Amino acid sequence: MFNSLSDRLTSTFKNLRGKGRLSEADIDGTVREIRRALLDADVAVSVVRAFVAQVKERALGEEVSASLNPGQQIVKIVNEELVGILGGETRRLNLAKVAPTVIMLAGLQGAGKTTLAGKLAKHLKAQGHTPLLVACDLQRPNAVKQLQVNGERAGVPVYAPHPGVSSEFEAATGDPVAVARDGVAEAKAKLHDVVIVDTAGRLGIDTEMMEQAANIRAAVNPDEVLFVIDAMIGQDAVNTAQAFNDGVGVTGVVLTKLDGDARGGAALSVASVTGKPVMYASTGENLDDFEIFHPDRMASRILD
Ligand code: GDP
Repeated sequence: MFNSLSDRLTSTFKNLRGKGRLSEADIDGTVREIRRALLDADVAVSVVRAFVAQVKERALGEEVSASLNPGQQIVKIVNEELVGILGGETRRLNLAKVAPTVIMLAGLQGAGKTTLAGKLAKHLKAQGHTPLLVACDLQRPNAVKQLQVNGERAGVPVYAPHPGVSSEFEAATGDPVAVARDGVAEAKAKLHDVVIVDTAGRLGIDTEMMEQAANIRAAVNPDEVLFVIDAMIGQDAVNTAQAFNDGVGVTGVVLTKLDGDARGGAALSVASVTGKPVMYASTGENLDDFEIFHPDRMASRILD
């Protein structure tokens, strides 16, 4: 992803090479090109507008540093602005002072939550944590089974409702909020230090799903609510991200399907609209196709 955006920006900046001083017209022309490149990469219009305005203001206002030519100065500004939107410094997981740390996953159906749950569990286990996966997606047929398969592959246990078996919060009723609560209680009892709660999504945003996610959040008071979003959804990313941020409240973003031919715009749009950092990237269907997201490296890749 970002290949074509990267190519476009590189050729834009090439035109500035060798210029001793940039006129306002040079800056206008460059900013226009950046605008087009971002729009073509599927970055949301509102995000592009704010981004180029900021770049232009800084390009016109900043003293050119002695060590950089004006072209390099613009590249530096664009780089810093990209890093800023993507969340600044690499954001580490917020661990609870008193275990267990509760991580809730939210997002549309098909975004890749259940897959990510397995990846995150495997990653955390490799770091020495003792995660428990909790299957609260009772909407999608097979989601519980899929999580159990992922848990087995990751070597991480899965808490799932057992029909007919009653528990403290009666998870057996099939109420995802009760399952979430039971799962966290199980983690405490069995001394797991991290709980990853997989939740249900729908194909589009709907009130019932948002309410359910908000209720799960209220019930388990997570340390992180990770909004999982398919990078391929392009312009729709903005509305979806906004709805989840408003309806559930998110603390971080996970981008999935970055192995596809997504043009990358969703990454910038979602991070900008939510104001929340991108923390992880999912790059395939296998549990190891998982990366910690580094905003500075991603910005460098875009501007390479
Ligand atoms: P959920 O409904 O949000 O739980 O989504 P799933 O985890 O079931 O993922 C939906 C589909 O996308 C499945 O077929 C996954 O194998 C696939 N998938 C998930 N993450 C990725 C990814 O990073 N890359 C690719 N290529 N496919 C993925």
